[in-house]
Amino acid sequence: MMNKRSTWIAGAPIVLLALAVCSIARAAGPAHALVKFAGTRAEQRNGVEQIHELRDALAALGFETDRCGIDIADGAIGVDVFDDADRERLRSAGLDIIHEDLESDSSFALRTAPQYYEPSEIAALLAQAAADHPAITHLFSVGTTHEGRTIWGLEISNNPGVPEDEPAIQFNGQHHSREVATCHVVMDVVEQLTNNYGTDPDITNWVNNYKTVCVPMVNPDGVQYVFDGHSSWRKNRMPYSCFGVDLNRNYPYLWGPGCGSSGTCTSDTYRGPSAASEDETQAMIALVDQYHFVMATSYHSYGQFIDYPYACATGAPATLMPEHAVIHEMMNGMADAIDSVDSTPRYDVNSPVPAGGVNGDDTSFYYAHKGVYAFIVEVGTSFEPSFSLVSGIVARNRAGWKYLYSRLGGARIDVHVTDECGGTPLEATVTLRDYLYDTGELDRVTFMPFGRWTFVTPPNDSYTVRATAPGYQTANVVVSVGTSPVALDIVLAATNPPPAIFGDTDCDGDVDHADFMRFEECFSGPARSPTGDCTKVDIDSNNCIAPRRLRSLPSRVQRIVGSGSNPQDTRATPFNSTA
Ligand SMILES: [Zn+2]
Repeated sequence: MMNKRSTWIAGAPIVLLALAVCSIARAAGPAHALVKFAGTRAEQRNGVEQIHELRDALAALGFETDRCGIDIADGAIGVDVFDDADRERLRSAGLDIIHEDLESDSSFALRTAPQYYEPSEIAALLAQAAADHPAITHLFSVGTTHEGRTIWGLEISNNPGVPEDEPAIQFNGQHHSREVATCHVVMDVVEQLTNNYGTDPDITNWVNNYKTVCVPMVNPDGVQYVFDGHSSWRKNRMPYSCFGVDLNRNYPYLWGPGCGSSGTCTSDTYRGPSAASEDETQAMIALVDQYHFVMATSYHSYGQFIDYPYACATGAPATLMPEHAVIHEMMNGMADAIDSVDSTPRYDVNSPVPAGGVNGDDTSFYYAHKGVYAFIVEVGTSFEPSFSLVSGIVARNRAGWKYLYSRLGGARIDVHVTDECGGTPLEATVTLRDYLYDTGELDRVTFMPFGRWTFVTPPNDSYTVRATAPGYQTANVVVSVGTSPVALDIVLAATNPPPAIFGDTDCDGDVDHADFMRFEECFSGPARSPTGDCTKVDIDSNNCIAPRRLRSLPSRVQRIVGSGSNPQDTRATPFNSTA
């Protein structure tokens, strides 16, 4: 672990003052209470069963619950309580309120331990890691928040800052500011990969063959507010009719009412005025568009479980993600790896979540819209565990994220789509025909300049990959996958192959209008001769011209060259006719 300076003594009076102001300002909003079943009912069931029952009981009473705030081990859930009538309804339903208001409870509000990282410390630690390991790191701004803070990202790669034709993997923490242990898990990825590169063979392999991007603190404005004395603050600090949007309800997939997000500004799960309205959300979306991650993990707390898309699923097959099988396999592998570290209770694996569905989350968006295999890991058993527990949380989750790297090196299909004329990489839509993408998924489009896409699949099976691109014939290719990556090159032929009858006639490396003029001379001008310059016509190495190159020629050329049913014959025509 990196060391953190201690500022606790000096900061305490400021925290107290801020708390007093906060209590007045919060008068109109709800209290964030922690509830569980009263008495023996809580002791007769295991944690997951209790949580299911408790969630149902709270939903029946009309309370919103959220998965970030479910303590499976203790059978407790955090809920927003607005007034005494709410409290009475909870009690009369057989529920104990074990904390009235986490935010105004001074024992909670004052507890943000100095060992946890403030935004400025995350910035300094990442800058230090980049300075210490310049050959394998690239520090960059993912975006800027409303209050002007930088959301920092660190790429770790043997070619940092340079696009590479290899899978990328992302780890992020602290979408929710009060989940203060989560950035420590992400910083552990940074520390392990940078410090052990060149000595640990696995890590060296991962850095050489994959791009890793770590964003330990997605919500620095919210985190600063936590350290300013509002320990239970969850959202960002965007000022609307009140402060703050729940960033993990602000992503575009299924954004809106109906599945565990709120339209009320004061709610802890306020989804924002529109999809992706927030700077932080926009930054994370731009990040995936830049890196085209194959996998991403979003760390939250608390509850010791792993969720995977779709977070709004009812559990019916029609609401699960199409590639449910592989992500289910990966999450159980991750949970097993975490569990192997010690004998504490196994992380649960959920899809949908036991706390009920949510929408606008990053993982469902990442999978549905961007094709990223994405997971939420809820670490620990409280928003802010005693700092003495953090090293254990970090160590257990290290086994989890290491598992993901090893799984990335297992069964997967690396698809490259190219044009048959010259092998130019193509921006093409690729689909696994073995699955039905019918729950709002957007096309998986190969990314440029590599024309590449990666599917992770269950091992030891065969799959049909379809590739389509405008102007090309669709290809369906069957591929067998064992337990290691398979490279699949799909070559697309043009729908109407250009009946090319000339090429780079003047040998200047390009097919352009000058070649056309030369062709006209060959065909009808004074140079018409099979033994003259016309016989030097080269099409290109594949004896054809790519459509996009032909399109750049004068329309008259295309009219002259015609459209024979057999492109090869057509290509030969002018030479035959001149012979
Ligand atoms: Zn969270």
